[in-house]
Amino acid sequence: MEDLVALCKRRGFIFQSSEIYGGIQGLYDYGPLGVELKNNLKKSWWSSMVYERDDVEGLDASILTHSDVLKYSGHEDTFTDPLVDCKSCGLRFRQDQIPDYCKDEDLTEPRDFNLMFKTNVGPIDDGSNYAYLRPETAQQIFINFKNITDSTSQTLPFGIAQIGKAFRNEITPRNFIFRVREFEQMELEFFVQPGTDEDWHKTWVKERTQWWIDQGIPENKLKIINIDGDDLSHYSKATVDIMYMFPHGIEELEGIANRTDFDLGSHTKNQGDLDITADIIKNDSSTAKLAIQDLDTKKWIVPYVIEPSAGVDRGVLAILNEAYSEETLSDGKKRIVLSFKPHLAPIKAAVIPLKKNNTELVSMAKNIKNNLQTLGVGRVVVENTGNIGKSYRKHDEIGTPICITVDFDSLEKNIVTIRNRDTMEQTKMNIDMIEDFFVDYYK
Ligand code: ATP
Repeated sequence: MEDLVALCKRRGFIFQSSEIYGGIQGLYDYGPLGVELKNNLKKSWWSSMVYERDDVEGLDASILTHSDVLKYSGHEDTFTDPLVDCKSCGLRFRQDQIPDYCKDEDLTEPRDFNLMFKTNVGPIDDGSNYAYLRPETAQQIFINFKNITDSTSQTLPFGIAQIGKAFRNEITPRNFIFRVREFEQMELEFFVQPGTDEDWHKTWVKERTQWWIDQGIPENKLKIINIDGDDLSHYSKATVDIMYMFPHGIEELEGIANRTDFDLGSHTKNQGDLDITADIIKNDSSTAKLAIQDLDTKKWIVPYVIEPSAGVDRGVLAILNEAYSEETLSDGKKRIVLSFKPHLAPIKAAVIPLKKNNTELVSMAKNIKNNLQTLGVGRVVVENTGNIGKSYRKHDEIGTPICITVDFDSLEKNIVTIRNRDTMEQTKMNIDMIEDFFVDYYK
């Protein structure tokens, strides 16, 4: 973990937030390479969840959430962690995360601590106009259910996907970006006919596990576990967690829950004509019936929902951890390499003029960059340092799959050198072939 944290700072992936003022615990900023990696991961999720299917629609809803939404969702009452104080050192911990040095000390009885951030909305601060920073993106999906069914032609089964920030006032944020107070989630709410939910749950566990493997996480580093009994969230009938061997231990990367009709039922105005199975709070505040009409029977049903919910930041940490390696080369030198899958690499290609500031070489390198940049694959850079060896080492360390070197042969014969990050092999290529090669590589 220390090596990863150091590399992330050195190369501009991830920084402690508000660092120059001493930092705030549990908050991180993504730098020039981190933002690319994170965007690529989100793009890959969006592509597999929305673009490659016809039964999922996207959404980007507000972060500030009406307090009633989180009242009826059950979060005001139950979104808590058990908090204990160590009477000896005065520190506070989540009951299941007490560090060894306090375990034998005098601890207070656990009490519920609500993890939601509350904030005032509008200019009058008398405590009555508050909203929450959403603790999960899911609730906004549920409350937009009617808007989406009314404005699209989706029928069951279908899903709504959203990527966005979520906030939890974690008692003990820790392990770098694993447990933070502001993070991003990639959530799908997949609505199904009650009765078909258990099969769909199994299908989504399989789909999501395969997706993580496709992002470069080996299957043997993943573990699928069933959450049961007291560990289930208040809305869940069954939850399966995809666990990953993080540098600090095996922990949750994604949770896939069967939320039944709990949420749609809870947000629906109680109208008496709906058969809701979940044990929900009777709702008088809502104005909506979050149900869908069966076109054959004309009956209104409140669908069940399967929710694959993945953390972007935990995904980034897992991917960095898998990609990172230190190799000793045949000449005894050490090389650090991030072997990202090509679609996740922050920089898709670096074009390197052999000599720094040589007008002709630099101009040719810029032309190549500009051409490749227009192809829409991702970021391409010109590396004008004049030190090829150092540039290769840097791009190994930030995971750039391809380096393209422009030398005097390029000016005379139109030939560049392509260097592969993983094999370190160098091959000559005619400049006219680069675009096809590049597009092919990232297909
Ligand atoms: P944990 O048990 O680790 O606290 P959780 O079960 O509360 O997690 P969920 O409510 O299932 O998490 O949230 C879905 C996903 O959101 C998690 O699988 C995780 O990837 C991500 N996530 C949740 N809390 C955090 C956090 N504090 N920091 C970073 N990611 C988080």
